[in-house]
Amino acid sequence: YAKHLNALLLPRTGTVLVEGNDTREPSLWRAIRNAVGMVFQNPDNQIIGTSVEEDVAFGPENKNLPSDVIQRKVADSLEAVGLSAWRKASSHSLSGGQKQRVAVAGVLASDSSCIVLDEPTSMLDPVSRRSLMETLHRLHEAGNTIILITHYAEEALGTDRVVLMDQGRVLLQGSPEEVFSQPEALAQCGVRAPRTVELARLLAERGVLDEPVVLDAPALVEHVARAYDERTATGPAARPAPAAPTGEASQAEVLLELRDVRFTYGEGTAQEVSVLDGVSARIHKGEFLSVVGASGSGKTTLVKHMNGLLKAASGDVLFKGGSIYGKGAQLGELRRHVGLVFQYPENQLFCKTVLEDVAFGPKNLGMTAQEAETSARRCLELVGIGPEYYEMSPFDLSGGQMRRVAVAGVLAMEPDVLVMDEPAAGLDPRAKARMFDLINRIRDERDLTVVLVSHDMEDVADYTDRVLVLHDGRVAVDGAPREVFGDVERMRELGLDVPEAVRVLHELRERGVPVSCSAATVPEAARVIAEAFGEGGGRDAS
Ligand code: ADP
Repeated sequence: YAKHLNALLLPRTGTVLVEGNDTREPSLWRAIRNAVGMVFQNPDNQIIGTSVEEDVAFGPENKNLPSDVIQRKVADSLEAVGLSAWRKASSHSLSGGQKQRVAVAGVLASDSSCIVLDEPTSMLDPVSRRSLMETLHRLHEAGNTIILITHYAEEALGTDRVVLMDQGRVLLQGSPEEVFSQPEALAQCGVRAPRTVELARLLAERGVLDEPVVLDAPALVEHVARAYDERTATGPAARPAPAAPTGEASQAEVLLELRDVRFTYGEGTAQEVSVLDGVSARIHKGEFLSVVGASGSGKTTLVKHMNGLLKAASGDVLFKGGSIYGKGAQLGELRRHVGLVFQYPENQLFCKTVLEDVAFGPKNLGMTAQEAETSARRCLELVGIGPEYYEMSPFDLSGGQMRRVAVAGVLAMEPDVLVMDEPAAGLDPRAKARMFDLINRIRDERDLTVVLVSHDMEDVADYTDRVLVLHDGRVAVDGAPREVFGDVERMRELGLDVPEAVRVLHELRERGVPVSCSAATVPEAARVIAEAFGEGGGRDAS
C-alpha cells in the first residue's frame, strides 16, 4: 500500500494518482516523490549523513537549491519536529525515536506535503513512541497530510480516517468511531481494539456510561468524569473505594534465588561497565514474573545469571536452595532445569529440519535419539507446529512459526523455569497473542515457572503475577502489577510507561473522581471505576 503512494511499486491494473499524476508514468516520478515522502520502520536504515543537519539537508541539496535556502529549510524542519537543539549532533548518537524524527524532518525539508510512515513506532520504546506521535499530530495541525501505517489501534484513534486492511483488501474505512465500534471487523484483521474502547464498552455494560464510546485516554477521562459529576450532583457522593489488599508474598517453594548479585562487563578494562549492583530476588514455583526497566537497565544481563550463562562477580544464585556456584554444582544440569529463550530466538535455529532442531537440545543433555525425538514431537505439538512442518527447513517458516520452533527447542529439555527475553518483540499483534496463549497453555499443563523480560507494560499487566523493576543496577520496585503501576510518577521517574488502563485511573483521580489506583488491566479498571460510581457500580444496580 505505502509503496504505491510514491511510485516505489506500480499497480499491475488500476491507477494511483498523486496530485493528479499517474504513478505509471516514469517522467512524473520526480514530481510524485517530491510530493510524497516516506519514513520506514527501522530508524537505523534511514540515517544517511553523519550529522543531523547533513541528514536533513540531503533532499534539498539534491535539488541544487541555493545554500541559504537549504539552511532555512533545515532549520524550519528541525524546528517542526522539535530537534533544533540537535542540529549539530551526530546522527548515530540519537535514540531510535529521535532518528525517526530526523527522517520526518528530511521529508519536510524536501517540501513534501504528504508524509507516509510505515510502522514508524514499532521499534521504539513507549516514551519515544509517544513523542513521535505528538510530532505527527503537530505537523497535521500545521496542514500536512499524514498517512500512518500501524498495528497499534491506539495510534489510529486520534486520526481523521482509518482504513482497515485485510489480506490485500480494504475491509472497512471511516472515522475512528465508525471503525473501532466494529469488533468483528477488527478481529478479522487481527487488530486489537484500543484499550480505552474496551474499557468504555465494559463501563457501558456496568451502567457507568450510557453507551460505549470510542475515545482516546484524555477524552474518555473527561467523559467519565462528567458522568461522575452529574451522578454526584444528584445523588450521595460515593466514598473513595478502599485500596485493594496488597499482594502477599507467595507461600510456594522458592525455585530460584538471587542474593546480592553484582556484575560488571569488562572488569578491570577501560570499557568496564558495572551493570548489576546488588540484585536480590526470589522466584517461586508456578509464578509468572516479569522483569522490566528502561533500555540498558540490565534485564538481559540479569536473566543470563539465572542459568549460569554469566557468573556473578559477587553474591550468589541458588536453585532449589543450592548455590549454582557451589562445589559439585553442575551448570549443564542447571541449564536443563532453567531454559532460556533469547531475544529473537529464531536466529539460533540451525539444523536442517524442524524436528532435528527441536531434538538437538535434549540429545545434547544425554537423552537417546528416540527419547529426544519423542520429546521434540510433544513440544512441537504444544507450540502448535504440526507434523507437516517436521521435515521442513526451519528457515522456510514464517517469523512467528520460527519463534515457536525455537521455544519448542527449549521446552523439549523439560525445564522447571522458562526464562524468555522479549519473546514478543517484533511480532504482529496476532502472532503475539498466540505467543502469550502458548505460554499460558504450557503453564497450565506443566506448572511451569516463567520469567518474562518485556518492555510492553500492557503485556506485563495482562499476563504476569509480579513485576520486578530494575533501575541503576538494583531492584527499584517489586510487587503485583496493580501495586507497582499504581505509583505512576515513580514509574515515569524510572523511565517506564504505565498501561493505558492505569493512565485513565490516574487521570480520573486528578480530575476528582475517587477511584483507587489498584488496577492494571482493563477489566480491573472497569471494576474500580464502577465502585467509585457507587456500590455495584451502576444505575442499573439495585
Ligand atoms: P537491558 O536488557 O535492560 O536493555 P542489558 O543487560 O542488555 O540491558 O545491558 C545493560 C548494560 O550492559 C548496557 O549498558 C549495555 O550496553 C551493557 N552491556 C550489555 N552486554 C554487554 C557486553 N557483552 N559487553 C559490554 N557491555 C555490555
